[in-house]
Amino acid sequence: MFEWLKKITEIPGPSGREDGVREVVAELLKPYVDKLWIDSWGNLIGLKKGSGEGKIMIAAHMDEIGLFVSHIEDDGYIRILPIGGVIERALLYQRVLLKTRDGRIIRGVIGLKPPHVAKPEELQKVPEIKELFVDIGASSREEVEKQGIRVGDILVYERDLAPLLGSRVTGKAIDDRVGVVAMLKAAQLIENPKVDVYFVATVQEEVGLKGARMTAFSISPDVALAIDVTIASDVPGVAKAEWYTRLGKGPAIKIADGRSATGLIAHPKVIDFLVSLADKYKIPYQVEVAAGGTTDASAIALNKEGVPAGTLSIPARYIHSPVEVIDLDDVYNTALLAKYFAEEVTTEWLREVKGRVLK
Ligand SMILES: [Zn+2]
Repeated sequence: MFEWLKKITEIPGPSGREDGVREVVAELLKPYVDKLWIDSWGNLIGLKKGSGEGKIMIAAHMDEIGLFVSHIEDDGYIRILPIGGVIERALLYQRVLLKTRDGRIIRGVIGLKPPHVAKPEELQKVPEIKELFVDIGASSREEVEKQGIRVGDILVYERDLAPLLGSRVTGKAIDDRVGVVAMLKAAQLIENPKVDVYFVATVQEEVGLKGARMTAFSISPDVALAIDVTIASDVPGVAKAEWYTRLGKGPAIKIADGRSATGLIAHPKVIDFLVSLADKYKIPYQVEVAAGGTTDASAIALNKEGVPAGTLSIPARYIHSPVEVIDLDDVYNTALLAKYFAEEVTTEWLREVKGRVLK
């Protein structure tokens, strides 16, 4: 799993530009599905046929947060705008990789005017994104354009995936390539499902759960699981009463997230089923009422007449930074729980969950 995760976290693939990631994920998913296809917006869908009637959708998003080239200055500096929930205070003095439309990768750094010429109050503040610029080493706009760089090209952090102590690793884009890895692992482990299982690597989650919405419509699943990261709050400065999930304690079965119209209160029968499977197979798990954020499950739940949906969350520290940290044991346990879910959902269970006629 480390090798899979390393390979796919290091590829630049912000929302709308997931092509490089998709290529690799398609190759990794291919051996474990009966059919595999890409839709018009680039969602990758793999189908593993089941013995009975019914459809499970498992979704994890391929995109990551990133930056757009918004303007090229005459003196060769590149101005940027965010793609998704970029943390401004994480951008400063980072190395970035710029990907041009013809696929060329160019290194740059995010600079700021020297502290020696800044006013004291400026030094106390996090600079706004419009004050920042990317320096690729060019001296003129012509030099930048000669590299094939145009307004609308994308940038991401330059960061390799690296091991920390034990089973913990750090890198960029772990949100949500780690969910993709857990889904791939589940696809590898699932044997003889009783209903069809659709594995979906979605696009544009970070900008509004868009790929999930498109694919839920085309697949029309009877039940759905999203696999995504969630806030691990076991870090200094967070009171224990505010700990939502912890690293290494297993996947978090989501009760609720979001706190708004865009969030999800997971389907009670999906929650109960996941908990019963975790107990039955002795998979460590946590239950989660998250303070914020949401996942693809929110969009899938609202498809057509409604889809019973839940989320398996992988606890992650420093989400949306270039140094996200997760525990690979949690990833494996997430894959296991998704595997048992996919194997033990039956046509009868789906019928039961769907609702009933009262008269
Ligand atoms: Zn995510």
